[in-house]
Amino acid sequence: MEHKNILAAIISPLCSWYRKNQRILPWRENKDPYRIWVSEIMLQQTRVEAAIPYYHRFLEALPTVEALAQAPLEQLMKLWEGLGYYSRVKNMQKAAVTVVEQYGGRFPADIKLLEKLPGIGDYTAGAIGSIAFGLPTPAVDGNVLRVAARLCNDDADIMLPQTKRRVKADLETAYPEAVDVSDLTQGLMELGALICVPGVPKCDLCPLTAFCEARKAGREQLLPVREVKKEKKTEKRTVFMLCCGDKVAAVKRPEKGVLAGMWEFPAVEGHITGGKAEQILTSWGMKGKGEAFVDNRHVFTHLIWEMKSYLVMADTMSDRFSWFSFEELQNSVAIPTAMKPFLTAMLKKVEEEHKQK
Ligand code: SF4
Repeated sequence: MEHKNILAAIISPLCSWYRKNQRILPWRENKDPYRIWVSEIMLQQTRVEAAIPYYHRFLEALPTVEALAQAPLEQLMKLWEGLGYYSRVKNMQKAAVTVVEQYGGRFPADIKLLEKLPGIGDYTAGAIGSIAFGLPTPAVDGNVLRVAARLCNDDADIMLPQTKRRVKADLETAYPEAVDVSDLTQGLMELGALICVPGVPKCDLCPLTAFCEARKAGREQLLPVREVKKEKKTEKRTVFMLCCGDKVAAVKRPEKGVLAGMWEFPAVEGHITGGKAEQILTSWGMKGKGEAFVDNRHVFTHLIWEMKSYLVMADTMSDRFSWFSFEELQNSVAIPTAMKPFLTAMLKKVEEEHKQK
């Protein structure tokens, strides 16, 4: 059977299954495009269970697209702290400004206009289009590609753009068959998340076994085919936790590249000795002895940071850095996840020292 016919055949059983088995999730409470959009952006890199508290916090602070458009950048960064990939929330604000200024605060019910909004690619536009507006626009991500590859017993590499384009085109011909395209989009997502999972799918629980060509051929665990990812580049870094009184030094990263525009603790390339650390402190106009502190390894999409650190009780506050209180670092300055273990270790140390006094 042609792939598009298989994908058309599963629509009715999949939508029935979804209506009975869907998880109760906060972004499914209504069809508000703003709420759906926020959830889709958060879920791009974060698991559902982990995203829920962030989602509630974000919506409570910024309940409307107007509120997001006007929010100060520091508040946005703070609300996004822990989710990573901060360019996403910056793009969300740009898109919110466009929605407010060009569309009177209402998301356009048009897939082409949605795709033009900053940070909204074809997946997110398809999701908002079908879930919020009932447009026949599929949202094809890794989950949907996996389900489609198995249903169709398809050996095409799902990492290739042409495979995605073909699956999307097949789904586009199938979508008009659905009574409720919102259920179809969410059903595909839900099946991929709960049943047709990576590795060993739960075929015994699947409503689509009768249609699944990979299952019939005993190939469900061999699919989907995906090209081996390139190895991530590893960078060594040494982080300085510079303390002076109850203040800690931080510095903004460049506006381009990894963690663009985010605050971090001062750091240098490579893993350096205590002697070299002292020289660097001098070059920063500070005196103080560095005490070897905690290590941390942080994995980004294409990069790994292997970090060592020194804790330095400095005698002066060099004006090459910004200095924040512990309270500010915890509550109002957005510190990226890569830097959090250093802050946590330092707060713990300070707490222990207070107890000993
Ligand atoms: S039968 Fe198995 S492999 Fe096929 S769609 Fe269902 S869970 Fe996935």
